[in-house]
Parts: sequence; C-alpha cells; structure tokens
Amino acid sequence: MKRIVVLGGGESGVGAAVLAKVKGFDVFLSDAGKLKDEYRNTLRQYAVDFEEGQHTESMILNADEIIKSPGIPDTAPLIVKIKTQHTPVISEIEFAGRYSKAKKICITGSNGKTTTTSIIYFLLKNAGLKVGLGGNIGKSFAYQVATEDFDYYVLEISSFQLDGMYDFKADIAVLLNITPDHLDRYDHNIQNYINSKFRITQNMLEDDCFIFCSDDEVTMAHLNKIVLKAQQLPFSQTEEITQGAFLDDDKLCTRYRNSEFSMLLQELSLQGKHNVYNSMAAAVAGKVLKIKNEVIRESLMTFKGVEHRLEVVLKVRDVIYINDSKATNVNAAWYALESMKTKVVWIAGGTDKGNDYSELFDVVKEKVKAVICLGIDNEKLHSAFGNLVSVMIDVKSAEEAVKTAYTLANSGDTVLLSPACASFDLFMNYEDRGHQFKEAVRNL
Ligand code: ADP
Repeated sequence: MKRIVVLGGGESGVGAAVLAKVKGFDVFLSDAGKLKDEYRNTLRQYAVDFEEGQHTESMILNADEIIKSPGIPDTAPLIVKIKTQHTPVISEIEFAGRYSKAKKICITGSNGKTTTTSIIYFLLKNAGLKVGLGGNIGKSFAYQVATEDFDYYVLEISSFQLDGMYDFKADIAVLLNITPDHLDRYDHNIQNYINSKFRITQNMLEDDCFIFCSDDEVTMAHLNKIVLKAQQLPFSQTEEITQGAFLDDDKLCTRYRNSEFSMLLQELSLQGKHNVYNSMAAAVAGKVLKIKNEVIRESLMTFKGVEHRLEVVLKVRDVIYINDSKATNVNAAWYALESMKTKVVWIAGGTDKGNDYSELFDVVKEKVKAVICLGIDNEKLHSAFGNLVSVMIDVKSAEEAVKTAYTLANSGDTVLLSPACASFDLFMNYEDRGHQFKEAVRNL
C-alpha cells in the first residue's frame, strides 16, 4: 500500500490526511508543534496515525509521497533530507486536485486574494451553483473533496501552495498582481516569486481562462516571455480591453465573447481602486461561467467585505475608524491610503519585512496628518516619514494607539489601521491585532 506522510497538522495538513485515508492510503501525519484539539479529534475520528511535538524520521523518510504544509520552508533540514532521497513533495491542493472533477477557479496574487476569492464564491452561490470555498480560506480543499460533492471550487492559492503544485490544473486562474512579498522564502530573488505565482497557469488548455491585471508591469513583463494556451482575459483601469474588463468613465465594463456587462463604480459595495480591480476580476470570472448580468451586479452591490480588510468599525464623534490589519505590506497600505477621502490619522508599523516606504510618500503627504507607530522598533517609520508628517507618536498596544488617535483626530477625519507590516512583534497575528483594535474602538 502506498504510504503518504503529511507534514504539518493545520487546516491543510489535516484535510490532506483525511482525504488520503478516505482514498485508502497508509497515512501518517507529523507536526513538530502541538495540534489544535479540533484537529486531533478529526484525525482520531478518521483513524489517521499521527505524532505531535516531534518529527520521527524513521516514520517519515519511508514515505512514497510527502504532502507538506505550505508553512514549512524547503530549507527545513527534514525537507532537505527528503528531497535528497528524491521522495516527491507536493502540496495539499495538488493532492486534492487528483480526486476532484469539479471546475476549479483559482485566485492568486500578492494582495487581494481573500477578498477576490470571497467575492467570486459569493457570486457563484448567488447564481445557485453547488460551490465550495477553500485554499487558504475556511475548510481545506482536501477535506471538502473527502466529505462534500461540489461542482465548483473557488480556491485562494498562495505562492507556497503553488510551489508544491505540478499536475494540478485550474479551469479559471486569476492572478491579481505581483509585488514583492515573502522574498525571504524566494532567495530574495523576485523572479523566483514571479515564477511561483505563474504556476497558477500551468497545464491550462485552450478552453481554460487566465484572468490577470494588464496594469501590473511585473505580470505583463513575464506574460510576454511565456507561451500560454489558455484564453487571456486582462482587466485594466487604464486602457480599453476587447476581452476582459476595463473602465468607461464611471462604469466598470466587461466583455466576454459577444456578451457585455457593465455597472456604475459607485454601485460597488467595496470601494477603493484595489477593490475595483478585485471586482473586475470577479465580474470576468462570472461572465466566463455564464452567470447572468443581474446576478453579477447584485452580488457586487451587496458583497459584505471580509473582516480586517478596510473594515469600517465605528463612527465616534464624527471620526470613522477603519480596521485594515490585513495590510501587512506596503502595497496594501498604499491602496488603503489611496482610497481615503478625508484626512487620516494613520496607525502603522509592526514587524518590518524589508519594507521600502518610498512608494507611500506622495499619498502620505497628501492625506496623513499624524502617524501612530504601533511596533516595538519604529525607527524605520520615523526615518521614512519624519520629514513628511509633523506628528509621529510611538505606542506599544492597540489600546494606546486608539486612545492616541482619538485625541489627534478632528471631526470628519478617518483613523486608519493599515500597518504595512506583519504583526508578530506585539500580536499573535493580524487577526489578533485587528480584534484588539476594534475592541479598543468600541471602548472609546
Ligand atoms: P490577501 O489574501 O492576498 O492577503 P486580502 O484580500 O486579504 O488579500 O487583502 C489584504 C490587504 O490588501 C488588505 O489590506 C486590502 O485592503 C489590500 N488589498 C485588497 N485587494 C488589493 C489589491 N487588488 N491590490 C492591492 N491591495 C489590495
């Protein structure tokens, strides 16, 4: 019997182990850390052998195939050993793709994945299709393949998942944008990261569709170098597009084959230039799937947004508080600031991932009246923005940040948490940072 070893016992690993078990393999799951109770219970329920708190090499190196959690880097000593003995290492999405005949709509990019994946899922649901939502969101794709029977999957796919994908094929692939992120996992070479993102298109055939942003220079430069069989459907806010999406004055327009769709930008429930891109990508996917124009319009008008992404928390004394804790890189923070229509008290900072703040200078000069630096080491923020903004204050907690913002903001201003940094210096993760921010706002 073929032996499958799953490394990492989080959502994706446990899902992969369950699917492998259901498909009759000899399965072993190993996690160097502690498993969550919920996951331990699932493994027991499906009678999957597992260990936690250690990796026992003799139980792992005898695998025929390894399914690796996207969180484990290729440089981990165990992975190096596995690769030296030429045992195939794949990702959960690759594995689950083997057992699903459903149509797969796969979304990747540096920013906007969760938002766009959620909009497309909402669209397909509203169209009455039997659809699952997976990848980096919610229940893992593998677990759903093991336990559900969907006709469609909308999957958010990170570059780390893509790195372990070989034969998997998307029916519709969306690549939103490529800006530097996670370069520490790509030998600090952006080309490696670009190659990884483009794996979303591998194996696609003439009937498949590739939806991408033709305003994104990095995407376009690479696309011009490769051969793709899939139909290319660009979206743009700067040029008219014959097959794809574009702007016509104050309207978002799409064309696919000989069918058109358009709606007013102001009708979109998610505002901001970045969300126009995300909505465009979703509308094109909707057209390809032959979803009715009324359903596309209705969905883009009523989509609620995802927590921690430009989430309006409260209005207090005529000041709006916005939680964009998920903006963990400079590009995401740029789009957040760009979409602000008032003066901003900006809460930024955290763990710096080698940020270059220069692309924020113009928008900060135009809109930001004060910067509240929420991090242990705020040196880089001070040197970047010290000359542009007269008020810069260091704080060490979300509560302190909110209280300080409250004293600085005047009627009509916006307080925006959009850190441009990871959260791990002061918080467990970006969700924790967002929750603490919202709690502090509610306590004002
Ligand atoms: P991801 O899943 O790729 O991290 P999210 O949808 O969670 O993306 O959004 C992450 C952050 O990026 C949020 O702060 C959001 O406001 C911002 N953002 C969303 N869409 C885009 C986009 N198309 N381009 C740039 N930034 C975006």
